[in-house]
Amino acid sequence: MSRRLTKLMATGAISAALLGAVAASGGPASAVGSPTCLYNTKATSFTVSDGPFSGGTDFVWNVVKGCPEVALTFAGSAAKTSGSASRNPVATTEYKLVATVGSSSKVLASGTALAGKVFDYVYSNGRWVKVQGTGTDAAAASAIAGKISSALAEPSKKALLGKVLEVHIIPSSAKLTDLAPWKYLEGTGTCDNKPGCVEDRDWSIVRGIGATVVPGTNQVAMAAASEELVATPGKPSTHKLGHIMAHEFSHVFLQKGFVSDAFRKSVETVLAQRGPSADYVGYDAYTRSSVDEYWAEGSAALFAYSYDAKFDHEYKESWLAANDPALLAKLNAVYPNR
Ligand SMILES: [Zn+2]
Repeated sequence: MSRRLTKLMATGAISAALLGAVAASGGPASAVGSPTCLYNTKATSFTVSDGPFSGGTDFVWNVVKGCPEVALTFAGSAAKTSGSASRNPVATTEYKLVATVGSSSKVLASGTALAGKVFDYVYSNGRWVKVQGTGTDAAAASAIAGKISSALAEPSKKALLGKVLEVHIIPSSAKLTDLAPWKYLEGTGTCDNKPGCVEDRDWSIVRGIGATVVPGTNQVAMAAASEELVATPGKPSTHKLGHIMAHEFSHVFLQKGFVSDAFRKSVETVLAQRGPSADYVGYDAYTRSSVDEYWAEGSAALFAYSYDAKFDHEYKESWLAANDPALLAKLNAVYPNR
């Protein structure tokens, strides 16, 4: 409390006008409004939608102030009681809506904006070089990445704070192992050191891969081939268009380090309880081969990206509800905002 205000209060000469002036200059909370002002200041709504694959994350809010002196900020900038903002950060960032009265503040709401990028590759000086994705394949990848990432629950986005989720499109004439983040896989197979793995293939012929943390960077990179995104003359897709993208993109949301150990374990339990003779989404032996494939195929089913036309009826939320409700409940926990 300022000396001048203390003196005026002592003489009983304080005026409403002076209180206003003190509030504006950042005086103590107890001197402005009522002590319950901040308590009564609330966000009546706060929504977070879209994301980096559709130009940015949109925040919209409404606030009821507990007293007129409340000042609002969003991401550190002055905000209105009914406001909106869009953010497309280079690294995943949490943004806060804050109310301040005098020197007291309260976070009314917060939400996370994912950082994401889509890359195409061009061949230059004897190697494949990544460039910003602008082709029809990048548009197809963005649409799928956007659909899945905008459905994410807040904890799944927060697990990527400081990181950027990258989609790398493997050119139809390039191998996965031609791209810098996956060169290290050259000469190895998909089942190396993985008990229970099925469909052993050399990584050079694989047309997609789940999230890879690029050492020494904040990049969490996954890949899908161009011909798996858009019909490509002379290069048939190995799966129905979009399936590999949806499958590989969703792997990260059950990956160690990006989900709580308890949640991952709970999905392992659902898979173990289901057992080997149950019907699984798509190609049963592959889907049940590990908790990661179970999750990725379940995610592809939730978002209706079938791997083959003959299984279209299984790649549906309604099929999961009828046949694997325990998995659907886990998927709903991670992708509630559909
Ligand atoms: Zn997979």
